Amino acid sequence: MAVNTSVENTIQPVVICLSRAGENTAHRVAKALGLLVHGRKGRVDAADAYFANALDHTRDLFAAGVPVIGVCAAGILIRAVAPLLGDKRSDPPVLAVSDDGAVVVPLLGGHHGANRLARDIADLLGATAAVTTAGDVSLGISLDEPPEGWVLGTPELAQGAMAELLSGVKAHLCGDEAARAHWLDALPQAKPGEPEVFIEATTAPPADGVLTFHPQRMTLGVGCARNCPPEELEALVRETLADAELAAGSLKGVFTLDLKADEPAVIALAVSLGVPLRVFSGAELEVLTTRLENPSEVVFAEVGCHGVAEGASLAGAGDTAFLGTPKRKTKNATCAIAFAPEPITELHGRARGKLSVVGIGPGQAAWRTPEVSRLVADADELVGYGLYIDLLGPLAIGKIRSDFPLGGEEDRCRYALEQAGKGHNVALVCSGDAGIFAMAAWVFELLDRGPDQHGVSDAARRIEVQCSPGVSALQGAAARAGAPLGHDFCAISLSDLLTPREDIVKRLHAAAEGDFVIAFYNPVSKRRRTLLAEARDILLKHRPADTPVMLASNLGRVDEHVRYRRLADLEVDEVDMLTVVLIGSSHSKLAQLGEGPRMYTPRGYARKIDGDLAEGSAR
Ligand code: SAH
Repeated sequence: MAVNTSVENTIQPVVICLSRAGENTAHRVAKALGLLVHGRKGRVDAADAYFANALDHTRDLFAAGVPVIGVCAAGILIRAVAPLLGDKRSDPPVLAVSDDGAVVVPLLGGHHGANRLARDIADLLGATAAVTTAGDVSLGISLDEPPEGWVLGTPELAQGAMAELLSGVKAHLCGDEAARAHWLDALPQAKPGEPEVFIEATTAPPADGVLTFHPQRMTLGVGCARNCPPEELEALVRETLADAELAAGSLKGVFTLDLKADEPAVIALAVSLGVPLRVFSGAELEVLTTRLENPSEVVFAEVGCHGVAEGASLAGAGDTAFLGTPKRKTKNATCAIAFAPEPITELHGRARGKLSVVGIGPGQAAWRTPEVSRLVADADELVGYGLYIDLLGPLAIGKIRSDFPLGGEEDRCRYALEQAGKGHNVALVCSGDAGIFAMAAWVFELLDRGPDQHGVSDAARRIEVQCSPGVSALQGAAARAGAPLGHDFCAISLSDLLTPREDIVKRLHAAAEGDFVIAFYNPVSKRRRTLLAEARDILLKHRPADTPVMLASNLGRVDEHVRYRRLADLEVDEVDMLTVVLIGSSHSKLAQLGEGPRMYTPRGYARKIDGDLAEGSAR
């Protein structure tokens, strides 16, 4: 099961410009839509950021889910993203705009943003939007991409209805919300007696087999006791909707008090309804007291406002909203539904903050996972050591970034957590894997402490934390070496800044006795220079002097440097803090192959092969 509970995707498109001929067009588009221009280094005079290779750059952005508007030939964009094409529902939009700004071609993602974006760009440039998806061309609308504020309640019926409409059958628009569905006016309407495709616009649940659109005029306000069973809240909401004959699809979102941002039942409800969760402070809800039908002094004494469910539903639906269904309750939960006079296009309230704890791999983009790239692209704020953020290249451009110096991990994590606590979407950027000698552990340590134990604020403790795996330095080194981790291995950090030296020495002895392949992280620094030599001497008591050792520095970065030594010859001065040291077990070998030395640790097949050979020759 996916653990990502976010239902919104808000990644901003990027305008890519390849030549001076397209510069003017690129800047006009970017300025009008509030976007950034990425320009080809040396060929474009002014851009917000520069790149060296258009194919790599476009591919990186696309892989991270960033919509791309390329002011260039369509073929370049097609070539760039072709190897990555996946699901048409999840691939981000890709559009080509001609240098002279005369033509805009939505190449991918027509029905999740590209057609709409192409029309917007065409409008502002006075260009032609070369839209090719059938419905858009003949009917002027696309049934599976209703405008902001509307949702398709019966996605399974859209394609069939579209085919009928395209074959000339006319539409019959009905339903209690038909008068608000102006965007459907573009469809030719059937006269009485003519064959027709029924289309219903309503806040009520869809009738069987009828293509239905819901205006998002409703907001659901909820409140509940701590640890309210999720089934109890969900059942209350489903019953309330059913009794009032309202469709969940007409809900713009679930709204509640900020203290409930991390309440499992509330989070599960928003996920189950497939809508965003937004929160308000007690003070923000208190100003709505006169509009509540069931104000409560008890609630006020507890949380500082006279009603959570009713107040939050009204706050979510805006100043002109009214209560459609006043508070209903069970033992542990409350809910209320408010209506706005028109479909709601703006989401009020704050998001539950999110912290993505990501490792970007050792360096090069190809060793970064697509999930990490997406989480970074999705974040509005990046926190981390400056070098790692720089390694993100195009993904970091235009984001708020807080660079922290090396060291200072606790401050960095506190800052990231508190920023997320304000409702921001923050990515905490580590090298390698975020959980391996990196910041993920700090994050959970801080979250696990109360504010009175030097933990983080309550607001920060209510955020969503998503961790995503990365390629750790030991894996990068192992891939370069061949297969040194083919058998049991362990990783030891030689930094005694946070670990007592005796503990490190104890683990060195244990690893030496256990004959593990060992990866030493943080092997030396300018001040810490003795432990690596001590480690070597301990290991030499248990494994041969010519045990292979790999020193891998700056893996995946421009100045990558890999070399092999015998254990007895390992010199501290050859190693720095940008090096991971892999020490073979007593079984590890260095093979001299055509392309140079490669290190591996047999899994035991040698014994089997040699055994088979011996058996064969004995026969
Ligand atoms: N989270 C990181 C480790 C951070 S500890 C990971 O999973 O890789 C820092 C240590 O990691 C460095 O001292 C070095 O030993 C190792 N390291 C990190 N990146 C490296 C790289 N690109 N090349 C070589 N070693 C690296």
